[in-house]
Amino acid sequence: MSDLLSALTVFDWITPVVAEIQDIVNGPNASFVYLESSASGKDIFRKLKRKKINPWGWIGAPFGNEAVFTVREKDAPQAYKILLKMGVVLTSVPRAALTRRSPRLPSRVAVHVHCDYCDGLNDESRKRCEHCGARL
Ligand SMILES: [Zn+2]
Repeated sequence: MSDLLSALTVFDWITPVVAEIQDIVNGPNASFVYLESSASGKDIFRKLKRKKINPWGWIGAPFGNEAVFTVREKDAPQAYKILLKMGVVLTSVPRAALTRRSPRLPSRVAVHVHCDYCDGLNDESRKRCEHCGARL
């Protein structure tokens, strides 16, 4: 399994389908959304990997000038700290990233949750998924 995973990781930069497979293989996961102008995806991936966090599923500009990528849910709080330290401008963080000890959330940053049905990102305050209408 780990060989398969590392083989997939070589391609995760460019292949959303592989990212979806990795979502399943890696288990509970958490996505960060940031402004592409504030950091390069390659720098972010390099920094996280140095801290033994394996990010995947980078997708550029799905909502305009933002990019999104995914880490394991258990790595989300540490990834969040690293991203803030790098000066990455986050626009939405997964709820899993926030612990009592995590740095205070900048006011511009939203907290999102994943829809169980379509996996779309939704603002934490929403009652229904904005992509498929399912209850959150
Ligand atoms: Zn949905």
